[in-house]
Amino acid sequence: MAELEALADAGDDVALVFAAQSLRGMAGGDLLGKVRDLHAHAQRGLLIEWGSWGDGRTAEEIFQAMARRQIEYYVIRPSQSPDELFHQSVSTFLLEWAHARRVSPHTVHIIGESWTGRAHELKEVLGRCAVPHAFLLADSPDGRALVEESGDGEPLPLVVFPNGTVLANPTNLELASAAGATIDPDRREYDVIIIGGGPAGLSAAVYGASEGFRTLVVDDGGIGGQATSSSLIRNYLGFPRGVSGRRLAESAYEQAWVFGAKFAFMHEATAIRREGDRVHVALSDGGEVSAPAVILATGATYHRLGVPEVEALVGAGVFYGGPASEAPTTVDEEAYVVGGANSAGQAALHLAEFARRVTLVVRAESLEKGMSHYLVRQVEGTPNIDVRLGTEVVGGGAGGDGWLKRLVLRSRADGATETVDAEELFLMIGARPNTEWLSAACTLGDGGFIRTGADIENGTWPLERSPLSLETSMPGVFAAGDVRHGSMNRVASAVGEGSIAIKLVHELFAAEQLQLS
Ligand SMILES: Cc1cc2nc3c(=O)[nH]c(=O)nc-3n(C[C@H](O)[C@H](O)[C@H](O)COP(=O)(O)OP(=O)(O)OC[C@H]3O[C@@H](n4cnc5c(N)ncnc54)[C@H](O)[C@@H]3O)c2cc1C
Repeated sequence: MAELEALADAGDDVALVFAAQSLRGMAGGDLLGKVRDLHAHAQRGLLIEWGSWGDGRTAEEIFQAMARRQIEYYVIRPSQSPDELFHQSVSTFLLEWAHARRVSPHTVHIIGESWTGRAHELKEVLGRCAVPHAFLLADSPDGRALVEESGDGEPLPLVVFPNGTVLANPTNLELASAAGATIDPDRREYDVIIIGGGPAGLSAAVYGASEGFRTLVVDDGGIGGQATSSSLIRNYLGFPRGVSGRRLAESAYEQAWVFGAKFAFMHEATAIRREGDRVHVALSDGGEVSAPAVILATGATYHRLGVPEVEALVGAGVFYGGPASEAPTTVDEEAYVVGGANSAGQAALHLAEFARRVTLVVRAESLEKGMSHYLVRQVEGTPNIDVRLGTEVVGGGAGGDGWLKRLVLRSRADGATETVDAEELFLMIGARPNTEWLSAACTLGDGGFIRTGADIENGTWPLERSPLSLETSMPGVFAAGDVRHGSMNRVASAVGEGSIAIKLVHELFAAEQLQLS
């Protein structure tokens, strides 16, 4: 602790601390729990002996330390030299630290006059393309230096890429294209077109392309969908430490790409119609693509709070979605999260690693109503998280610097209002399906979710054969993931449905005797 204190006093940044389970006078987990008070971004690993996870006491210590957010993960003590398993753990921790410090390799820098407006939109575009990025105010020392070096006299915001490319106030298309995203479809006819590049769409792309279908993914933003706003997905199979939504999206995109899937980012699908045995999809640039099979994986979009003074601060302390990319900037701040579902619980836990205090504002009277038991346990076990049940945000305002300064909270029980200091607000208040453009084409269920298979209303299915299980009321058009009526709102279920949809496309090709293009 003395060494860590000395390093903090000297202004040195500690990236990674390992501690044994038992130390003189202190448990390793307790020491690691104090590290973040001194070094806000440090990663923490509890060292255990090989095989000791089978010992009940050690296992409980690991579970408790993780639940109390004292450690990121456990690490098996290195036993021989070289120990590549140990090296891999170190590298993984260091990469996480670099992401949190925004010094990861190949970071794109955006320099703007203020956090809001166009600079915020550009940050969102890069976030949606899963590109590591950092924002600098133009009058900060680092911002000034980069402007002088890269684009003095150019209009702001300025975007500086790791390869030296500099774009002055680019369009979304120019930005995505410079970041390596493919924009235009390479042809007009495919075997399968997937609308939406979230987990469901990316999964369909991996299976579609790997099984020989000429596959196109169209997305109005970039890759990853809602998942990119998740800081740590802990319940996705195969990632015991958890995986950030961004990392998962990047890997899935790469996997689909190496199998030959094509991508058209920054294109919105605006209409869909069936002619003969082909489905035509109209795109926002006026173009059209077609295929015998289309998979709708358009997911859902956040509900808005609808409080004008809070909406005006989006980007300046107010954010829709998870704090994946903003959390590191909340060190020592008062952060608020609004929402009662798992995503809000995760956001609060992630922020608690950085912020002085996190307040979770929930409309319902209990956390259990909307959150998984394991998350409720973690939220309640985290000392710097407060939970305000039966409460809503009804107002707010900025300080002199234009950044969020206060919020007005109202008790749903007695209508009493209270003004509180707040520097960050993350809104995670549910989502509506992205289906407005489909209402004339497919039958939609409650809340606008797409009906499929046995859920399709009587009289709306036009063919003699029965619809396949994920098929919509328009033959040859399937729905997968959060956009589907009855979906499970999980990454795993979206990924599962994406792969099932491709299996059903095989059945469609067989049933309708279709040929690959
Ligand atoms: C903050 C947060 C944390 C979460 N954490 C977890 C977790 O820990 N574990 C878990 O299992 N789940 C989690 N979820 C839920 C999970 O992210 C979703 O269930 C999953 O992303 C759904 O995938 P999807 O592909 O169906 O839709 P989405 O992820 O919503 O993707 C849909 C995509 O389609 C695009 N699109 C929409 N309309 C059009 C159009 N007309 N044309 C072109 N493109 C279009 C969208 O821009 C988007 O990119 C979390 C969600 C959030 C918001």
